Formats: sequence, C-alpha cells, structure tokens
Amino acid sequence: MGVIVDKVADLKKIIQNLKHEGKNIGFVPTMGALHKGHISLVERCVADNDITVVSIFVNPTQFNDKNDLKNYPRMPERDIPMLEAAGVDIVFMPTEQEIYPEPDTRVFDFGMLDKVMEGKFRPGHFNGVAQVVSKLFDIVAPHRAYFGQKDYQQLAIIRAMVRMLGYTIEIVGCPIVREPDGLAMSSRNLLLSPEHRKSAPLIHKTLAEARNKTHELSVKEMILWVINQVNADPNLKVEYFELADANTLLPVESWDHPNGIIGCIAVWAGNIRLIDNMMFK
Ligand code: AMP
Repeated sequence: MGVIVDKVADLKKIIQNLKHEGKNIGFVPTMGALHKGHISLVERCVADNDITVVSIFVNPTQFNDKNDLKNYPRMPERDIPMLEAAGVDIVFMPTEQEIYPEPDTRVFDFGMLDKVMEGKFRPGHFNGVAQVVSKLFDIVAPHRAYFGQKDYQQLAIIRAMVRMLGYTIEIVGCPIVREPDGLAMSSRNLLLSPEHRKSAPLIHKTLAEARNKTHELSVKEMILWVINQVNADPNLKVEYFELADANTLLPVESWDHPNGIIGCIAVWAGNIRLIDNMMFK
C-alpha cells in the first residue's frame, strides 16, 4: 500500500527516513490525468529503485495560456488507483500554496534551448517547468528522475537545468508510448472532439512516412512536405515542424548534419494543441 502525502514537510521527513535506511529513491513528476505513457515511466522507476515517488501537480507557472490551465484535465480519483496498481510507494499531491508559498521569481538562462520550437511558441513555458521541477527535486531529492521523450525539448531543458544547478540526480529519458493508431498518448487527448481525435493519428503517420523519404527530399523540402501533409486534413493545423540537432535543438541545414536529427511538430486540433516527435537520424 502506498501513501498519499500533500505537505512538503511531511514528504521531506519520510524521504529522509527512507534514505537513512539506505533506500534508493526514484521520482516521476506528472500533472495527473494519467495514461499508459505516464505508467511506463512509473514502471521503469519501480523496476530501477527501492522507492518510487510520483507527484501530481498541475503547475500554473508553466501554462502560458490561461484557458489551457483552466481546462487541463484533473482526475485524482482515477489516477491514484492506477499508481497503486503500478506499485508506487508515495504519491505527492501538493496544493499550489505548498509549492509556491511565495511567487517564484527565478529566471533561468537556457541559451537557445528554450528559444526554439515549444519555447518560441509558448513563452515562459520552460522557465515554469524549470521552476517546478527544481522545487520538486529539492523536496524529493531523488537518486533518479524519469521523463518522457514525448516532451523531447523538456527533457533537454531538464538535463541542462541539472547541469546548471549541479544536481546529482540521474535523468532517465523514456520512449514515447502511443495509442494503437499511432497517436502519442497525452492527457490533452481527452479534450479532443471525436472528429479531431479521428484526425490526430495523421501526425504520427506523417512523421513515420517522412522518415522513409530522407533520400528523396532535402531538409527544406521535407519540412514543407510534412506541413502540407498534416494540413491537408481540415481538422489539423501545423504550428511548426522543425528538423533540429538532437542535442542543441537548433535547425539543421542538411541530412549530412554530423549529429542526430530530431523532427519536432506542434499541431492544433481544434483548440487543443498536440506535440509529437521522431528521430530522423
Ligand atoms: P505530464 O503529466 O504531461 O507533465 O507528463 C509527465 C511525464 O510523462 C513527462 O515526463 C512526459 O514527457 C511523460 N509522458 C507524457 N506522455 C507520454 C507518452 N505518451 N509517452 C511517454 N512519456 C510520456
């Protein structure tokens, strides 16, 4: 049986005692409305560590869109049994007041990493992510923390933050979990209308097809091809598709690029914004 904790002071005490007993602590931060993508992180964490802590906190500072924050699905009564079943030891569900007793005014400098793609279209988003994750890291003080590659740029930001702030936490990136039709699992999928839900798998289908066309199309042509392919469905509207260096996330010029190439996409399906990505090289 796991425990549910809502106070920072209580959690710190519990963790301290567990560490005293020599336990290894693994941590999975989430915003709840859990699906199999989250659970894959949790299962990996349970397998790797003595103790698994999962946080559920819809972090206001990372929402650049007030409506998105208001509409974000919240369903703790469904989440908690899922975490129990996956073998989680501690569920941390703090209030906003617990995490931000005072406004967090810290501004992080991620260089170009938060200026491109999600950072460009969601100003302030990654600063809010860094704020909450660093607070959670300070509270939980885990040995390892688990993040999904679904949020590829976020994973890069977390790794940068860990280097910057000198955390000794091992960051583990986990593969994207998809619906049977290819759509990347996301809490926001719950908000899609039936028509938009039907159209949404075209995003992954297009990326998967694109990866087989790197011999036919230049980088520039590929970007246009992907955008046109997705936009051909009137229910979908591409916000950006970028082919970027897998580490710096800066746009690449050609397939001869010396490092890995990641393709990242953001698409509006009605008023719901979906992201996905695929490694091209
Ligand atoms: P969220 O609750 O959206 O903040 O996500 C919590 C964690 O789950 C993040 O590290 C996400 O990258 C990860 N995650 C979300 N969706 C998926 C997915 N489909 N596959 C793998 N990881 C995911």
